[in-house]
Order: sequence, then C-alpha cells, then structure tokens
Amino acid sequence: MPCIRYRTAISAHADGNPLPPGVTDLELETHLTACPDCRRWSKRLRALREATEDLRRHRRAGTPSKPV
Ligand SMILES: [Zn+2]
Repeated sequence: MPCIRYRTAISAHADGNPLPPGVTDLELETHLTACPDCRRWSKRLRALREATEDLRRHRRAGTPSKPV
C-alpha cells in the first residue's frame, strides 16, 4: 500500500476520526515501524497539531470574546 494511504489514516487518527476503510491499527503500526518517512511525517503532523491546539488555547484564554 502506498504511503499516502497511511498518511491519510494518520491524519484521520490525529483528528479523532476513524481510520479509512482498508487500513487497520496494526497495519499502520507495522508501516510506521518499517517506513522512516511516514514516521517523520506523523511526528511532524503531531507537532503541528499540538502547536495549533496551543495557539487556540492561548487565543481563547488571552482574548476576551466580546462582540465587535
Ligand atoms: Zn510510508
């Protein structure tokens, strides 16, 4: 299976969505173990997600939401 299939799955997983049909947790694990590229990609995606979360949290905490 091409990497893109796994990356779609990783991305869905990071969003809290179910894995796309045809990709199982085990397959994903196995591929990540075997494919350094996807491992790096998944790490970067996770870091990006965390940064986005942080930003969102900061913004929510820092700026009082009042109607403009
Ligand atoms: Zn891969």
